[in-house]
Amino acid sequence: MELVYDFIGIGFGPSNLALAIATREHAQRSGLAPHVCFLEKKPAFNWHEGMLIDGSTMQISFLKDLVTLRNPASRFTFVNYLNERGRLQDFINLKTFFPTREEYTDYLTWAASHFTDQAHYGAEVMSVEPHFEDGRFVAMDVLSRDANGEVSRRRARNLVFGIGGIPQAPAAFDGLEDARVLHSAGYRGGIEKLLANRPGPVRVAVVGGGQSAAEIFEDLASRFDNVEATLVIRGSALKPSDDSPFVNQIFNPSFTDTIFNHSQERRVALFDEFRNTNYSVVDTDLIETIFQRMYQQKVRGEERHRMLTNREVVHAEVAADGIELFLRDAPHDQMHSESFDVVVLATGYRRDYHLELLSGIQEYIQGANVDRHYRLPLSPGSEAGIFLQGCCEDSHGLSDTLLSVLAIRSQEVVESIFGDQAQPCSARSAHGSLQVQTEPRVALKLAR
Ligand code: NAP
Repeated sequence: MELVYDFIGIGFGPSNLALAIATREHAQRSGLAPHVCFLEKKPAFNWHEGMLIDGSTMQISFLKDLVTLRNPASRFTFVNYLNERGRLQDFINLKTFFPTREEYTDYLTWAASHFTDQAHYGAEVMSVEPHFEDGRFVAMDVLSRDANGEVSRRRARNLVFGIGGIPQAPAAFDGLEDARVLHSAGYRGGIEKLLANRPGPVRVAVVGGGQSAAEIFEDLASRFDNVEATLVIRGSALKPSDDSPFVNQIFNPSFTDTIFNHSQERRVALFDEFRNTNYSVVDTDLIETIFQRMYQQKVRGEERHRMLTNREVVHAEVAADGIELFLRDAPHDQMHSESFDVVVLATGYRRDYHLELLSGIQEYIQGANVDRHYRLPLSPGSEAGIFLQGCCEDSHGLSDTLLSVLAIRSQEVVESIFGDQAQPCSARSAHGSLQVQTEPRVALKLAR
């Protein structure tokens, strides 16, 4: 016999990991014993493993870790991680706020290792069904599948999504299923397989002008002797990301209220104004490294790696000598095509996959916009709760998809689910208001 969970976290990346920590710390303060679990389709904890490029660094200060902005005294700070790993003194001597992604992944993995009792890896969520009691929508059943195809059903009063983005490919690649076309999300691991045992030259196109594209282009050029890399960008140059201090204040968790309280029109205007902090932009250091590489080629009279600017891929197909890209040079009103052995799409992510997973309860969801505490509106009288993390950029601002707000947002979700008073959660409704507890927690024969 199993309990109905207070919440099930769908996905166990940084967002829901921060939530797991906030929930545990809330429980420690309040004396509650919440029943929560997390379902993660990956077989073990990992974070953007496909973009774990050697030497790549974080673009965000380690002080914006999973907890510090909420609780600097937590044992889950990056500083405590360093201390436990015996590297605190050495890290200080690095004189940086920006650890490598490799080290940050190790930090996240270390933090996740404290939640093995709650995290179910290899559990891919397939669908969500409503559960009614006396005609009231009080909970949801989450159906997931493990690596062996076995289906589990778990019930929860609340769901909290933290599933990250889904790789996005340009429409030009619709219907093109070919192992030689890979998304940046699967670059590490994928590219090594494609380039193994190929004497070269191997022509690799990288499509995109953001941080992922630039890191991949530089990695291809520096790590593989057999590659000729071509960066295909729609714009006329690689542009730097603005991480200057006044601008960076838009990523302060306190700015979330500012954004949320604006009209939709003003939010859009702010998004456009600050888009170059995050999208289609590259760290200045990396732009300079790439420029130097291109200059060095000129010195040597080489043309191995190159950049095709003002080019949009309008069509792609499998050809006799590789993947043929049809490129439009809009400013010059020209079209041409070129074949590549491998194409890497560093074309960003979409963040609407939760809608697919929630299609089974769509009729109870009233609108796509969450409230300030990330709760989706459900039909009147519903006592269940659905919370979204990382896909509320429209209402909560540019920081929503990033790590900047994890610590604070997780606390807001915890308070919304459990309330901010030290009351047993089973004595609260899903909305956090106090209720008379008339029966013990519902016990069901469900998977753990
Ligand atoms: P991104 O910034 O969204 O860039 C996507 C790129 O794909 C853009 O240059 C865009 O072109 C291009 N693109 C999209 N659709 C296209 C189409 N139909 N045809 C041609 N080009 C198309 O994505 P990202 O570089 O993957 O970055 C995503 C996030 O991850 C950012 O927050 C970034 O900072 C982060 N990131 C961090 C690190 C790190 O921490 N070291 C590394 C990589 C990524 P346009 O510019 O023309 O729109």
